[in-house]
Amino acid sequence: MNSRKKIPQQLSHSSRGRRCSLAAVISTAFISIVFLFISAMTLSHYRLGSFQSILVQITEDSFPEITYSRNLHNQINELLHLSSRLAFSGNDVTLRIVKQSIENKVQSIQKQINEQDSNVYLSTQLNVISSEFFSLQQLVQHKLTIQEQIIEAQSSMYTLHEKMFSLSPQVNRNSAGTIWTSAYSEMITLASKTLIKLRLQEVRQVFRQAENKIALLEKDILLLPLSSRTSAESLTDQLRQLMFAENGLLQLKIMQLRINGRVIGREHFLKNLLDDFSRVAEFKSYQINETVVADTNAIIEATDAETKLMNVVSLFVLFVLFSVIYFIKRRFVERVVLLNRQVIARLKGDKIEFDVSGNDEISDMAKAFNIFAAEIEEQKQILRDLSLTDGLTGLYNRRALDQRLEQELQTAARNQGPLAVLIMDIDYFKRYNDIYGHLAGDDCLKQVSAALLHSKRRSTDFIARYGGEEFLFILPNTTPDGAQKMAAEVLAKVNALNITHEGNSAAAHVTMSIGIAGGCYQENLNSAELLEKADKALYKAKKSGKNCIYSH
Ligand code: GH3
Ligand code: MG
Ligand code: MG
Repeated sequence: MNSRKKIPQQLSHSSRGRRCSLAAVISTAFISIVFLFISAMTLSHYRLGSFQSILVQITEDSFPEITYSRNLHNQINELLHLSSRLAFSGNDVTLRIVKQSIENKVQSIQKQINEQDSNVYLSTQLNVISSEFFSLQQLVQHKLTIQEQIIEAQSSMYTLHEKMFSLSPQVNRNSAGTIWTSAYSEMITLASKTLIKLRLQEVRQVFRQAENKIALLEKDILLLPLSSRTSAESLTDQLRQLMFAENGLLQLKIMQLRINGRVIGREHFLKNLLDDFSRVAEFKSYQINETVVADTNAIIEATDAETKLMNVVSLFVLFVLFSVIYFIKRRFVERVVLLNRQVIARLKGDKIEFDVSGNDEISDMAKAFNIFAAEIEEQKQILRDLSLTDGLTGLYNRRALDQRLEQELQTAARNQGPLAVLIMDIDYFKRYNDIYGHLAGDDCLKQVSAALLHSKRRSTDFIARYGGEEFLFILPNTTPDGAQKMAAEVLAKVNALNITHEGNSAAAHVTMSIGIAGGCYQENLNSAELLEKADKALYKAKKSGKNCIYSH
């Protein structure tokens, strides 16, 4: 009962100090690690998500836009090339083919702009380019028409020249005729030269020369033979018409040079427009490139920052982990090992206290072990006492007596001192039981035991129940006289109890007979011999009428 009360008192005493619960500390440490781990994972997940979105943006938006800009740029270059081909188309077939190619290209660019770009400027610009292409094509068409007319005029001119040659036999009859035909041929040559002139100024110069020459030709007709004058007039008139009429060769040449100039001018203008268009498209491409570079730089910077952050987080988690491991080793493992060592030592029989520092579950365990150990010691003592005690009288039993007698004999032998024993046996106790019953007999035995215990004088004296109604006193350092006195005192005490015993022939109350042995130092005396002597003395006392003492 006492030990049960002690446990909560001692354990609750320990909790009065600053309590440091291992369970709470370890739980907090593990929760911290889990929290750190989850935080690191969430952070990585978030960061990876932003990387992914930037990469998606580059792949899904920027790359197609770059491809689109590159395509646009290539197609504009093709248009530039086509504009040159258009301007220098030499016949209708080439013109038609180039025109068709331009239309296809413009349509394709328009489609791409509509699909990929919301840039209105590009679309408008393309419309202007398209209409400029149309104008240039019309100019070229016109140029080709004039070219055809010039070829026709040239052909007519050669026809006139041939006619002139066929007329020459008539004309060349006189010297003026010869002059006239050569002047006519010069006119044809002059007209042919006009066709290869490339500058308007030169054509006009030739025009003026030709006017002078044809005026002379007309004038010199009067000098020709009469028969050929009419034909010569007709030829000269046709030549004038062919050269100077509104659709004449010289006018056609002038128109051709003008249109050529306009074609070149328009082609230049168209090229400028295409250059401008190309620059706008290129600028867009440049902007996209800039965005891609900025995005890529952002990813590189973010990756760098992420790596640094993850390094710091990893180091921190490692630090916390090692701290927890160190803490568990110092505060848990080492102390449990110490406690285990103390338990093993205690089991081996060392009388040590369980002692573990701190104020937590392990120190509580050590304290609880101490309480359990004390309780077990107490229980062991109780068991030991029970095994050596007589249950009825509370005196030592025969086993305790035998051990004690051996010890005392050894002590006496060592000291070469005296040792006496008294054997006491209640007289006619069988009859007592018979008369008063066993319970009364037990009660009588208790009273006698108490009286014997009271007779004890020295702490070294030892009283035990020897058998049923027999008792034994061990009296160390006691002479025969001392033993005699002690026996007398015991006898008197039992008589003084005055327990009625009608069956006792020696007295009207309970009495006992006492046998004494020992009292002198005797070498090599053993317990059996001593007890035998005491028993013989007792036997003598019984034989002597009981309620008396006999010394061996
Ligand atoms: P004597 O005078 O010669 O000693 O005769 P006695 O009857 O006392 O001796 P005996 O040895 O014949 O009988 C002893 C009796 O003691 C027998 C037994 O019934 C009784 N006895 C032994 N132990 C106990 C006990 O624990 N309680 C009781 N009530 N009786 C006991
Ligand atoms: Mg007896
Ligand atoms: Mg007896």
